[in-house]
Amino acid sequence: MNTKEIMDLDKKYVMQTYGRQPLALEKGSGAVVWDVEGKSYIDCVAGIAVNNVGHAHPKVVEAICKQAKNLIHTSNIYYTEEQVTLAELLAEVSPHDKAFFCNSGAEANEGAIKLARKHTGKGEIITMKNSFHGRTITTITATGQTKYQKNFGPLTPGFSYVDYCDVEAAADAITDNTAAVLVEPVQGEGGVIVPPKDYLKELKAVCHENDVLIIFDEVQTGFGRTGSMFASQTFDVTPDITSLAKAIAGGFPMGAVLASGEVGETFEPGDHAATFGGSPLACAAAKASINVTLEENLLEKSRENGAYFKAKLEAIKDKNDVVVDVRGIGLMLGMELNFQCGELVDKMRENGIIVNCTAGNVLRFVPPLLISREQIDTVTSVLEEVLQDY
Ligand SMILES: *Cc1c(COP(=O)(O)O)cnc(C)c1O
Repeated sequence: MNTKEIMDLDKKYVMQTYGRQPLALEKGSGAVVWDVEGKSYIDCVAGIAVNNVGHAHPKVVEAICKQAKNLIHTSNIYYTEEQVTLAELLAEVSPHDKAFFCNSGAEANEGAIKLARKHTGKGEIITMKNSFHGRTITTITATGQTKYQKNFGPLTPGFSYVDYCDVEAAADAITDNTAAVLVEPVQGEGGVIVPPKDYLKELKAVCHENDVLIIFDEVQTGFGRTGSMFASQTFDVTPDITSLAKAIAGGFPMGAVLASGEVGETFEPGDHAATFGGSPLACAAAKASINVTLEENLLEKSRENGAYFKAKLEAIKDKNDVVVDVRGIGLMLGMELNFQCGELVDKMRENGIIVNCTAGNVLRFVPPLLISREQIDTVTSVLEEVLQDY
């Protein structure tokens, strides 16, 4: 089918929840994707920070094929070697020692919230304005942006919101009934907002002084995006609970809740479950993807190529008044413009680069971590050229 035919069928048969680009993708390899007309694009979206190990990585493909031939799914009322060895690997690479497996970021945050409520015996959760935590009723409630909540009330009780990067506001919002503070170590959907260096450390201190848990939503920042396996390591702050999804299984759908010590011992049989959570197929994909991240030094690449990419974006900013800000860490970069960036995204795409616009006027660059310097050069030179029109 060509792009037009696919778009027509979508319109007819798929609920129109997405503001989609007029682009139908068919295959990918590394940091490149191809549309159904055969045109290639450098991928600075990576399925929104999902394809961290690139598209069609042979080791991930092999792990999925091999596992699919053995056992795709079984119930969590049975054990599998794939699930326990993935949990062991996560304990090795993360600051935590226990995992619960689910299927998405929203589900991971739901699990994290349940865990915090049960562990503390308290109900209230403090989250940040401008945050993003998912699209279920409870996670749109956690998301501190009314545009995601409108039309979907009543919302889940027990949530309050404070400004991101404001430790004092969080301290003031804590009550005797506060279970946890839920925070993205770097706000993603909100426009790639990197907090000041000590913010997360101070926030954790305030939480612990008040017997409140701190949860990091690392759904977007996890698995090398900020230059370490987890942003908690980049910022050198260990939360009580971490929620994960997006890049965890190289593009295969999966989520996880990680916790340490007593917090990780809270759930008992019957407390929480997911039919598909931690299926052998998802776990095989996740193990392969995490091992590729380690073996191919993708954390170092994220740091080094991220710094290279950011410097090039900063050079563009210096020459263009329409660029308000360049920010980010590792390969999670944002360029804030003084205009809505939808049309610029179209022009980039027409020139063979896919990039995403978030928060209305922020170009978000979250490419596969194995993107090459040559590919980065192509992206920034196209961007520079396209910006001439503004
Ligand atoms: C994408 C995202 C989510 C939601 O993940 P889904 O898999 O779409 O449910 C939650 N939190 C953050 C920080 C995200 O970036």
